[in-house]
Amino acid sequence: MSLVIVGSLAFDTIETPKGRKERIVGGSCTYCALAASYFTSPGIVGVVGEDFPEEVIELLKKRKIDIQGLERKPGKTFHWEGRYGHDPNFRTTLKLEMNVFDNFKPELPAKYKETDMLFLANIDPDLQEDILSQVKKPKIVAMDTINFWIKNKRPQLVRVMEKVDVFFANDEEVKLLTEEINLIKAGKRVLNMGPSLVVIKKGEHGALVLGKNNIFGVLAYPCEDVVDPTGAGDSFAGGFLGYMDRARQGNQSDIRKAAVFGSVMASYTIEDFGIERLKSLSDSEIKDRFSAFKKLLSF
Ligand code: AMP
Repeated sequence: MSLVIVGSLAFDTIETPKGRKERIVGGSCTYCALAASYFTSPGIVGVVGEDFPEEVIELLKKRKIDIQGLERKPGKTFHWEGRYGHDPNFRTTLKLEMNVFDNFKPELPAKYKETDMLFLANIDPDLQEDILSQVKKPKIVAMDTINFWIKNKRPQLVRVMEKVDVFFANDEEVKLLTEEINLIKAGKRVLNMGPSLVVIKKGEHGALVLGKNNIFGVLAYPCEDVVDPTGAGDSFAGGFLGYMDRARQGNQSDIRKAAVFGSVMASYTIEDFGIERLKSLSDSEIKDRFSAFKKLLSF
């Protein structure tokens, strides 16, 4: 089984300077799986309520995403509401309704337990820990989180971090977690907490990939019209891990290319509201933007 992703499938209500959208489909798992599906065939673990649109499940299937680990339960789908100001790097969470995610304790399908690569996308660290304990011998475990869990479930989060290889977070989250304002020092602290690689996403300023003896920086694609930054981080992780899953090597060169593919996928996500752009990208669109990054980064 290739990459398994656990995270939220959601309705998002989003306000950005470009407009407001009520209850559109989002969620950390949704964005990540769609982005990864351009590189590999991921499996997903999550839960939706009776109100989640069947056509989105059909879209996941069409993109060759394995949905054996997706449950539909009586009740309402997870709902997140957020607002962005003119700086797309900052958002305010206005509402968080866990709904069917409350008390969600999945038993992983047998083939998921054998996976080589597991991504614990942004979701309750208790759930992340439970899933991690069910997977037998993964070669790479990666995780993501957000301020909400750092503030509300720090001990559980730190416990999960001790067992993962790759930690994704944005600059604000890494600073909050480590109480360190210098990003390099903050990244090094994270490396001392368990992971061997930390990917610090800096929104429109790109991302920093930090290992024990390596550092790599990738720019964000210079996009003049950011419509909705939601899901950029998850799309980055999806592109990054999807590529790593396809490459199967995990050497320095792959890690760098993975970071560029992460940026490529994030750059498409922010061009429209929700998952719109991730629904039907073509391989040539992905290749073209990868080439554009190559030009942008070479000197
Ligand atoms: P990103 O913009 O990549 O950080 O992720 C945005 C997605 O995360 C949205 O689609 C939300 O539905 C989802 N999300 C927001 N808060 C949470 C939370 N506390 N737990 C799980 N998912 C969340």
